[in-house]
Amino acid sequence: MQSVQRSVLSGTWSASTSEVLKTIYYRGPIKRAEIADLLGLTKATITTNVNALIAAGLVKEEQKPDAASNSLGRKARPVSIIPDAKHYVGIEIRGFKRTISVRNLIGETLYADQDNRLVHDYDENMKLGCGMLQTALDACGLALDDISGIGFCMPGVVNHAAGILDTLPSFGWRDKPVRDDVRALTGYRGPISVENNTCARAYGLRLAQRELLKDIHNFTYFFISRGIACPLFLDTNNVVGSIVGAGEVGHMIMQPNGLLCSCGNRGCLEAYSSDVAVIRRCQEAMDRGEAPKLRALCQGRQPTMQNIIAAQLEGDQDVQRIAEDAVYMLGVAVANVVNFASSRIMFIDGMLFGVPGNREQLLNVIHTNLCNALHSDTEFRFVEPDDYSGANGAAALAIHDSLTYGNF
Ligand SMILES: [Zn+2]
Repeated sequence: MQSVQRSVLSGTWSASTSEVLKTIYYRGPIKRAEIADLLGLTKATITTNVNALIAAGLVKEEQKPDAASNSLGRKARPVSIIPDAKHYVGIEIRGFKRTISVRNLIGETLYADQDNRLVHDYDENMKLGCGMLQTALDACGLALDDISGIGFCMPGVVNHAAGILDTLPSFGWRDKPVRDDVRALTGYRGPISVENNTCARAYGLRLAQRELLKDIHNFTYFFISRGIACPLFLDTNNVVGSIVGAGEVGHMIMQPNGLLCSCGNRGCLEAYSSDVAVIRRCQEAMDRGEAPKLRALCQGRQPTMQNIIAAQLEGDQDVQRIAEDAVYMLGVAVANVVNFASSRIMFIDGMLFGVPGNREQLLNVIHTNLCNALHSDTEFRFVEPDDYSGANGAAALAIHDSLTYGNF
């Protein structure tokens, strides 16, 4: 795995420490007895681990004993995470944008910034992304050594364990040693977690929605942007787990021998419903002299998703038809995903769903195409698009890796 620093928990870290810490993290404030029940561990094991976590400055006892307990003194006090015990940085690089955020141990964002230049070169992207770090730390009054982990994410196929980008076909990036490059560009000596940017967002959601997901052990996250992906997040044995599989549903074939996709195949979902596909179809409509409201908004420039949504909301019928086509394919794809991996909750995140009518249509198409015989009880929730979800997700991943490996 990564270079592990265990300064505060040196010698005491074990798999049970991680389980205890994650239980306090995701379910706290929580009493020791409840942790023991949930994890099926002995009270002695819980006590040893909680004491080590308190000594390490990560966990505290709540001041007031729980009113419902019949006061056996100290032991009845719930324990919880100390929010500012640690700090993390998340960075996302995409060709058209780089974002950074600084978050504390419980995921409160202390600082966020973005750089919107369009850059296709890998080295230049890395330099710009990592170049935002010093300003971010200065703004938070933190030094590089105060950071307990950096999370770094990008589109494409990423080998999380190795810290390498295998490939990002649309940019022609291949075999990039991302972790080593981040280390060289920042001089940071602590843990660096590298992940695909949709998977990083799933970690961000797991953190942000920890109350909602308390007793739900899996979810899927359907993310529509320039590409489309849907990672499955799976918890095991009451312990918050991780992503399973690549979730590259964007290359699910929706139309055999259909439209050419950026991957080289034909008929992939992305060729119909990604933001790139929607923008391309709108541009073609404008070139034919259609989509009057969108043309008025764009003034000769290529449309953005914001322009397209604005035109649809203003009642542009040509844009409406294009959006309907894209949403229809997405609805069929979501039904296929749910038939395959019926998660308890599916989060749906895409600019198109800023239009209420598109949400309604999507849900109708999903329910028309779900297999009735399966009686799926999947709940669908729309996520509000957030400029910083990638950087925040990358920081959440770094937090998750700290909780898992003890590398604070
Ligand atoms: Zn494809």
